[in-house]
Amino acid sequence: MSAHATAPHILILGGTTEARRLAAELTARGALRVTTSLAGRVTRPGAPQGEVRIGGFGGADGLADWLREHHVDAVVDATHPFAARITANAARAATSASVPLLVLRRPGWLPVEGDRWHPVPSLGAAADALPALGRRVFLTTGRLGLGAFAHLEDLHFVARSVEPPEPPMPTDLEVLLARGPFTVADELRLLRGRRIDVLVTKDSGGEATAAKLTAARELALPVVVVRRPPLPEGVTALPDVAAVVERLSRLEGPARTGLNRP
Ligand code: NAP
Repeated sequence: MSAHATAPHILILGGTTEARRLAAELTARGALRVTTSLAGRVTRPGAPQGEVRIGGFGGADGLADWLREHHVDAVVDATHPFAARITANAARAATSASVPLLVLRRPGWLPVEGDRWHPVPSLGAAADALPALGRRVFLTTGRLGLGAFAHLEDLHFVARSVEPPEPPMPTDLEVLLARGPFTVADELRLLRGRRIDVLVTKDSGGEATAAKLTAARELALPVVVVRRPPLPEGVTALPDVAAVVERLSRLEGPARTGLNRP
């Protein structure tokens, strides 16, 4: 039997920079088996460290079965703050399989002096707010959210996404395919060059895509900020990789043993 077959097994639900960092940090410790799970929607540069599995589990029950079959000792939900379905499934599956669950969520952005933010609860509410704020809109809400703006025929949209979007989407649309991180200089050039009146973003948090907020502030542009969906009841989030590693090292059971092994 390989050393890994007996090592404590950590499942990371991934798809974020933090998930990759956590996988690297945990595999570097050597005494753990680390599997990262990806939804498989976008092509990513390079695989995370450790083992990787790709594709849905088939809901919370499928995930619970996977946890049992693969003898998972702890789950870390390090998915994107707006990936609410997998987060809800992880909470249910961890409870039903009696596996400890930790949630890693980078903190949301906070407005600072000079920001002109319009917080809204959903993409639909963002679309409702737009006609009063401007005609040329920069959308950074991800390619899957473009449908929420498809009915706004009088507005011009510039949408940035990692992969090409698919309908439904606005008719007057320019698509920019790009992957962060972006600099403030990049964002100022884009906002000025496209004569943008208003920006729409989810409150994703993190450094990689925060430059657009600084650029919007410098140009005094309004920003419609879609608030995060709430975490499942009883779930509290840890803000960074260090906090997750620290909490794993305090869990009762095998995950802790693996982390504390010299
Ligand atoms: P979602 O709506 O919460 O999840 C939809 C379904 O996709 C889930 O029910 C699950 O299928 C599957 N899934 C999601 N994440 C998975 C993972 N890490 N491993 C295996 N299956 C997964 O998620 P989403 O918003 O479509 O996001 C998909 C992935 O992209 C997430 O992993 C997330 O971290 C990443 N991402 C999302 C955003 C965003 O804005 N939403 C941005 C950047 C990255 P089953 O029910 O069949 O298990």
